[in-house]
Amino acid sequence: MINSNAMRYALLAIDQGTTSTRAILFSEKGEPFFIRQKELVLQYPQKGWVEQDPETIWQDTLWVCQNVLKDTQHYAITIAGIGITNQRETTLIWDRTTGKTLYNAIVWQDRRTVEACSKLINAGYSKTIAEKTGLLIDPYFSATKIAWILDHVPGARVRAQNGDLAFGTVDTFLLWRLTGGKVHATDVTNASRTLLYNITTNQWDDELLALFDIPSAILPEVKANVADYGQTTPNLFGVSYTIGGMAGDQHAALIGQSCFEPGMIKATYGTGCFALMNIGTDFVISKNKLLTTVGYRIGNETHYALEGSIFTAGAVIQWLRDNLGLLVDAKQSESIARSVSDSNEVYFVPAFTGLGAPYWKPFARAAITGLSRESHKAHIVRAALEAQGYQSRDLIEAMMTDSGIRNMDSSNGVLRVDGGMVVNAFVCQFIADMINQTVEIPAVSESTAWGAAVLAGLQSNVYENLSEISSNWTCSHRYKPSMDAIERDALYAGWKNAVLSVVR
Ligand code: ADP
Repeated sequence: MINSNAMRYALLAIDQGTTSTRAILFSEKGEPFFIRQKELVLQYPQKGWVEQDPETIWQDTLWVCQNVLKDTQHYAITIAGIGITNQRETTLIWDRTTGKTLYNAIVWQDRRTVEACSKLINAGYSKTIAEKTGLLIDPYFSATKIAWILDHVPGARVRAQNGDLAFGTVDTFLLWRLTGGKVHATDVTNASRTLLYNITTNQWDDELLALFDIPSAILPEVKANVADYGQTTPNLFGVSYTIGGMAGDQHAALIGQSCFEPGMIKATYGTGCFALMNIGTDFVISKNKLLTTVGYRIGNETHYALEGSIFTAGAVIQWLRDNLGLLVDAKQSESIARSVSDSNEVYFVPAFTGLGAPYWKPFARAAITGLSRESHKAHIVRAALEAQGYQSRDLIEAMMTDSGIRNMDSSNGVLRVDGGMVVNAFVCQFIADMINQTVEIPAVSESTAWGAAVLAGLQSNVYENLSEISSNWTCSHRYKPSMDAIERDALYAGWKNAVLSVVR
């Protein structure tokens, strides 16, 4: 029950993700008072194509917001502002006059533009693009998706050149609809995932626009993460609210985890794992296949981040459950892993969809190595959980090497984690042991949505500055490393060998 007397302000976060759309009303301290959620369906019209219905994204957003607001009806709550966070890179184009989209949302996972990307790679553009955007040339990012829509919807290219069309990632699309078509803007983190935005000059880049053949008339204005994004149109929620913050999902989680100092890392362990390291105000290009991206821009200060992903994290547990039938549910993995004292030299390299940084072997496939006659189910389950620690160490070492920030080597290194997998204490302890640093779980488990709320709170002066936010950040659980160096290094050397067997 809410004690509304104790609450001065509340903040509404819209979290539009790949598989669900949520609205969460947070107190200024981060307690999630009301949550509404709608599952979102992915469509696969052809092999490698992944789409979503834009009207469903919009109607779901409206529904979750309206229902959270209805929930607050009997309480004296002042909503200070709205923050938006979203699945990144997913691409939409609509008509500026009617607001109607030209095509479905092309989701980040969509691979239809592989050939267009290969052409640019073969033509030698990788270096220029990395230097301007921090990214690799890949269908994942928005640019080739935009060009695909312009080339495949009859008349679209001419309409785009005439200024009749608007492009947006999901943040921009929702903002447009929420403001009744008044505001066409994105934030710098979402812009930095399009392959069109130069993150060193902080501008859309004419050379990149020419390269991807995209007219500039289609682009949104780019704003800092804390900014006046406009007002919701009154007919949606009865009154108007200020939209005061926006950020892509991983960036919002970096903010929600209060990773405001260079060297701080957040990692979200869900189906896959996404890690971002704040590297401060200087841009560096990765030598280990990490991406460089804008972490956030608040005021005039831009903090960059290195981003790496582990393609398969929690998905390996689903595989053990669904494909091998070794588990009844994900939770059981922990007791089974603890039933043995070690993995008996069994390693599980869960490269079902390739290996990410620092290996970058998209065509590698998974392996279980070191099996002997004594190996049994518990060793395999344990090895699958331990793989989370090994993969984390791979990623974090790459981040430290690229950034030159080696605080994970010293006693100040801390990894802040969230996502569905962190309820598993065995996994968290093993990650702490493998990276030899403390692993922290936040009291506010919804880091991504909380990050969006925080941004809106900064814009509406609920918070004065980032220090106030980070001093409010509280830890619900802390895992301290407890493995000795000899054992740690021996286990990790075994992992490196196992990886060699799949990347050869
Ligand atoms: P996503 O946002 O990617 O859908 P979630 O953050 O909801 O993912 O996390 C779901 C993942 O976490 C699943 O892959 C599941 O296997 C894993 N998971 C959930 N509970 C546990 C557990 N107790 N131990 C290990 N893995 C778990």
